[in-house]
Amino acid sequence: MPCYRCGTRQVDPEPGKGSSWRRGVVREHQVLVCPDCQPAALADMDRCAGCGSTHLIRRLDQVECLDCRLTRDPGAVNGPDAPDTIEAPDVPDAGGGPDPALAAEVARAVARVLGRA
Ligand SMILES: [Zn+2]
Ligand SMILES: [Zn+2]
Repeated sequence: MPCYRCGTRQVDPEPGKGSSWRRGVVREHQVLVCPDCQPAALADMDRCAGCGSTHLIRRLDQVECLDCRLTRDPGAVNGPDAPDTIEAPDVPDAGGGPDPALAAEVARAVARVLGRA
């Protein structure tokens, strides 16, 4: 992983010297910072809410402070979505029962047929 500011790639530290590259978290992203960029990077790096350290690492869904072990969730940007309200569509009234006028018409027709027979 190169330095997030200048893109320099980390080289193996000289024997006897530890790497002076630093890990940090900038805007919720895990980054690596080369020694030259560290003074400038300090302004960018997220700080621990508990101790102010920039010695943070990003885990799966949390940012953890390596100094005091405080963890926090990455910025809760979006509030919970309002649940969609599903409205039942207006069902036209099926209005059971036969039409009375039609029923009477049918009755008269039946009577005519019967009377004629
Ligand atoms: Zn750099
Ligand atoms: Zn801390």
